[in-house]
Amino acid sequence: MGKEPLKTIIIGSGPAGYTAAIYAARANLSPVLYTGREPGGQLMITTDVENFPGYPDGVMGPQMMEDLKKQAERFGTEIKYELIDRVDFDGDVKKVYTEGGEEIQAHSVIISTGASARWLGLESEQRLANQGVSACAVCDGFFYRGKEVAIVGAGDSACEEALYLSNLCPTVHMLVRRDEMRASKIMQERVKKQKNIKIYWNTETEEILGETEVTGVRVRNNVTDEVQEIPIAGFFVAIGHIPNTKLFKGVLEMEDTGYLVHKPDSTHTNVPGVFVSGDAADHVYRQAITAAGTGCMAALDAERYLGQQGII
Ligand code: NDP
Repeated sequence: MGKEPLKTIIIGSGPAGYTAAIYAARANLSPVLYTGREPGGQLMITTDVENFPGYPDGVMGPQMMEDLKKQAERFGTEIKYELIDRVDFDGDVKKVYTEGGEEIQAHSVIISTGASARWLGLESEQRLANQGVSACAVCDGFFYRGKEVAIVGAGDSACEEALYLSNLCPTVHMLVRRDEMRASKIMQERVKKQKNIKIYWNTETEEILGETEVTGVRVRNNVTDEVQEIPIAGFFVAIGHIPNTKLFKGVLEMEDTGYLVHKPDSTHTNVPGVFVSGDAADHVYRQAITAAGTGCMAALDAERYLGQQGII
């Protein structure tokens, strides 16, 4: 005879997933949480988190994730260090499959698979990743103290990161592909006021230069076609994020950009019993605290759903 379906399974181990686990475990849902390939998610590549309420002196991202994990385990969450790579949400009992092919059945599923940094897609960018190419100024900026760096992007993230780098580096070369920035006015103004941030308008990255480490970047002005090489030691990519939702393509309703759609003021997806929390459905706020908040909501929604279904 097969095993009884779980009450709830949580996919993903960022602040959304662990918070969902804390609430689900305390509601006696005996959750099983699958961490995915990067346990702890984006906060594992963050240093100081200073804006999460309750930590007056700040906390290191990895420490916060360890704390959240321990809190989830304390109430009986089972953590599995595996990747879910296929799902079947037809019918009342949902099925998810691990990378190793194991089938797990559950009455409800909470998705908290998060988002990952978007890359330019250049060969040199891949080759020099962690050798001068980074998608996180706050994590890696420290290594480029006193050195010239470039950052690509023109959203709030790029502005925030350019400002951060401008406190560490003599010049921050900011590469903007259009003649205007997408970022909020206040962030743009701050960037423009900062004397050591040099903005290159209408500028695209052709290649990141260097054999084993970054030595420069070749850029092209897309209006004048002028090409120039800027000597730099660090190249930062801040061009947005991609939600980790490929797994749900054709299964759940999603926006063109891949963000999962949920019903207003809830975490319900279009499939009953499947809930979404955190950055997988949020391209606006994307904060640890908002992810945690929606993780809590998803667990409460799952609990109510299971009650209505007569499972608990
Ligand atoms: P955004 O999607 O807002 O911006 C991405 C930027 O990258 C755009 O300027 C875009 O250019 C540029 N870009 C995309 N692809 C390329 C490419 N191939 N080459 C060059 N440039 C490229 O992402 P963010 O991560 O900045 O922000 C996401 C959300 O988070 C936003 O809603 C933002 O407001 C919010 N946020 C808020 C913060 C705050 O309030 N403090 C801090 C950080 C983020 P283009 O404009 O030409 O498309």
